[in-house]
Amino acid sequence: MSDDYCLIGTDEKPPKADGPPYAECVLCREPTEYPESYKGITLCPVCEWQEAQRTACSG
Ligand SMILES: [Zn+2]
Repeated sequence: MSDDYCLIGTDEKPPKADGPPYAECVLCREPTEYPESYKGITLCPVCEWQEAQRTACSG
């Protein structure tokens, strides 16, 4: 049960862009993998990984 809980959010990630223009990372302004038209929070792979580390399930 707890293992499955750690996988939440995989269905809520923004769509990957097929190509430029890409949205800017909201943290470091680097281009992300997401389309510029995406209205949500977009993070570059680096910041996304760091956020994942911060919010990762303990244990
Ligand atoms: Zn970033």
